[in-house]
Amino acid sequence: MAQNVDIVSRQTWGAAAPRKKTTLKGTARRVIIHHTALPSCTGLTECKARVASIQRGHMNDRDFDDIGYNFLVGVDGTVFEGRGWGVAGAHAKGHNSDSLGIAFMGNFNNDTPNQDAISSVKRLLQGGVSQGFLHPGFVLLGHRDLGETECPGEKLYAALAQLRSTT
Ligand SMILES: [Zn+2]
Repeated sequence: MAQNVDIVSRQTWGAAAPRKKTTLKGTARRVIIHHTALPSCTGLTECKARVASIQRGHMNDRDFDDIGYNFLVGVDGTVFEGRGWGVAGAHAKGHNSDSLGIAFMGNFNNDTPNQDAISSVKRLLQGGVSQGFLHPGFVLLGHRDLGETECPGEKLYAALAQLRSTT
């Protein structure tokens, strides 16, 4: 039985307070995988700074109420709380009210996602199911399945089968 993955809290990475918070309608039934299309990061110090800078960009430049994603993951598999469980994100226009958005930090058009990051996200999803935040029959999609975008990048898109498998 896999242990729940550790999640770096908003407080730990120094998140700004959200302007507004909208609760998801019931248990999330879809998980939408993104990449940030920004440089990747490794280690707590570098990734904390990166997550904080993504939040600033989303709130100041894109006028989101908070960082867009529910969770983010670094190259080494460290998971960061974005909006967190049970909160509607701003990551896939028209699809935010019943889904969770998870972003791999980096650009995966050419880079291959690290196994540690894949395995952390699997454990995060398993934890979400066991804690009742995520429907056991949830559907996992890449952002590009829902709109005109290359997100989450060719190589990460190709790895989504690994996230869907239960082993
Ligand atoms: Zn995306």
